[in-house]
Amino acid sequence: MISSLRHDVLIAGGGPAGATLAIELAQAGQGAVLIERSREAQHKVCGEFLSPESLPLLRRIGIHPAALGAQTIRSLRIAARDVLAEVVLPAPALALTRYTLDEALLQRARQTGASLLRGYTVEQLAPLRERDLCGGWQARITDVSHASMEIQGREAFLATGKHDLRGWARAADGAQNTLVALKMYFVLTREQQAELAGHVELILYPGGYAGLQPVEDGRANLCALITRKKLQQVGGGWGRLLEHMMRSSPHLARRLSGAVPLLERPLALSSIPYGYHAQELYEGPTPWRIGDQAAVIPSFCGDGMAIALHTAHRAAELYLEGATPAVFHEEIRRRFARRLTFATALSRLVIRMPALVHVVRLWPPVLAEIFAATRVPGTTLHAIGD
Ligand SMILES: Cc1cc2nc3c(=O)[nH]c(=O)nc-3n(C[C@H](O)[C@H](O)[C@H](O)COP(=O)(O)OP(=O)(O)OC[C@H]3O[C@@H](n4cnc5c(N)ncnc54)[C@H](O)[C@@H]3O)c2cc1C
Repeated sequence: MISSLRHDVLIAGGGPAGATLAIELAQAGQGAVLIERSREAQHKVCGEFLSPESLPLLRRIGIHPAALGAQTIRSLRIAARDVLAEVVLPAPALALTRYTLDEALLQRARQTGASLLRGYTVEQLAPLRERDLCGGWQARITDVSHASMEIQGREAFLATGKHDLRGWARAADGAQNTLVALKMYFVLTREQQAELAGHVELILYPGGYAGLQPVEDGRANLCALITRKKLQQVGGGWGRLLEHMMRSSPHLARRLSGAVPLLERPLALSSIPYGYHAQELYEGPTPWRIGDQAAVIPSFCGDGMAIALHTAHRAAELYLEGATPAVFHEEIRRRFARRLTFATALSRLVIRMPALVHVVRLWPPVLAEIFAATRVPGTTLHAIGD
């Protein structure tokens, strides 16, 4: 039920970014309305690695992934045909399904006093003309029966993640957007579960890479990326992709031997604009962009959620100080552009010239260097339980 049609802040999208912003603004006494199109918890295409720098950001808003069943990840393995190198993470990470995490965030938003409109899609977002309401924003939202209504707010935040809102598409020039992502849960054999425990594994194969790691309830998440072209070459479809990955990587074939897939079909996503960061493109008022609407880092970094949490936190701080979206977007550019460029170049290189990864066999410390160079700046690392 919508209690009021006029709010301080409209937030489109209730993923990690939108929910975090709603929590922080509600805690600061702002009337935030969070509009999320899913009606209930859902699986999302994601490696589900919660990087060390995302953990203090979650704790700050009252989310404790370990209490939700998250698995501890202490080291990163990189494997091509077989394991090339292993590096202990600078601080432990966690792995938790988005099904669990995103729902916990939405519940927390509700608890802290944000209005949550669940099952509503933002169809349109437009600045109000001054004569209507001294500035401000109007959103047209629809429910599942396509009934539509309008709500207004003084400020608007775009947190629709991978999905662009009509009229506010991200400028993804120069982004790496040729990859298709597919995700599946498996129950591995006991022996393979034991070998994987405590590790995230990055598996490289011609045309792409995949992350494999344990999540809660004895499951393992395999999240694979491959270029559209290579996917077609290997015959298209999940079965053919799996064959291609396992043929190229005996390591992965061993992990998946005897494994039971848990979803009827994998979840899929395409046209992800890796390397994108927010820019001021539109004349006149613009909404604030947070999470994937602010910056998209290649998935092998496992830091997209940390960026979502961090950008939501900084946007809340700056909004409460009276700053404009332009100031915030410029800060994002300054903080992230170099890391995004580096990580995206690396992603392109590894996919084009997979043999390059053998450098890590010859010089394993390079893995730790790469991990450090692709982290979210401005966050501190703490041990789990701090
Ligand atoms: C293949 C892959 C693997 C990844 N692996 C990792 C990883 O291991 N670790 C990590 O940290 N990051 C990972 N990421 C990145 C991570 O998933 C994103 O960075 C993160 O989800 C961004 O959060 P967000 O809140 O901005 O967007 P999202 O999580 O996409 O949430 C957006 C929300 O908005 C809602 N929505 C969309 N449109 C509308 C609308 N019009 N109206 C209302 N609601 C709407 C959606 O339902 C969704 O709930 C991965 C990404 C990909 C593609």
